[in-house]
Amino acid sequence: MNRQSGAILVLSGPSGAGKSSLIQKIKDQIGPIYFSISTTTRPIREGEVDGVHYYFVGVEEFKRDIEDEMFLEYAVVHGNYYGTSLGPVKKALKEGKLVIFDIDVQGHDAVQNRLSDITTSVFITTPSLEELKRRLYNRSTDSEEVILGRIEMAKREVQRISEYDFLIVNDNLEEAAEILVSIAKAARMKIPTFQINEFVQTWEAS
Ligand code: 5GP
Repeated sequence: MNRQSGAILVLSGPSGAGKSSLIQKIKDQIGPIYFSISTTTRPIREGEVDGVHYYFVGVEEFKRDIEDEMFLEYAVVHGNYYGTSLGPVKKALKEGKLVIFDIDVQGHDAVQNRLSDITTSVFITTPSLEELKRRLYNRSTDSEEVILGRIEMAKREVQRISEYDFLIVNDNLEEAAEILVSIAKAARMKIPTFQINEFVQTWEAS
């Protein structure tokens, strides 16, 4: 079936579960994608690039964008604002791309509410809380306070796994990547009601 429009793949899960590494690993194996770059008010971390990892803005600018309805969704995560700009997502969907979001459970909720027709979601986590702690401390990009905040948030987020379509336990990067490739390919084939009506009409007529 030749798709006329794109689809959405939401990835959520604790920081440290390996979402970014997984995306890097699979990005060349799943056809045309647009990886959504979020806007955030959190301070830039060492090694991050403005416009690549996030668009880093001040709180005032973020609030202006909320008022101007620029966001598909936004949320406060670890005390900072994070949001997905609507414009680039619309454009990528029109181009038939698979739009990938790395957003939290609140963001997933909002995207499901607005675009459930074309959305597939995956929760990615570590095999255990212990392993998550180990990865967060090894990564050492954050202060103790931030790490503890992430651990608390992870405990809350795993309570909501059942809201997702798929769960990937990232024990082994190769295996997790293989599963994610399958899910991403299937996500493109999700049938939005508006599209299937069109398909059925053409199918019956031809
Ligand atoms: P980090 O600060 O580690 O990059 O991201 C912290 C959390 O914010 C992650 O769980 C990530 O999925 C989430 N996040 C990043 N961008 C967005 C966004 O645009 N919207 C929402 N709702 N969450 C986001």
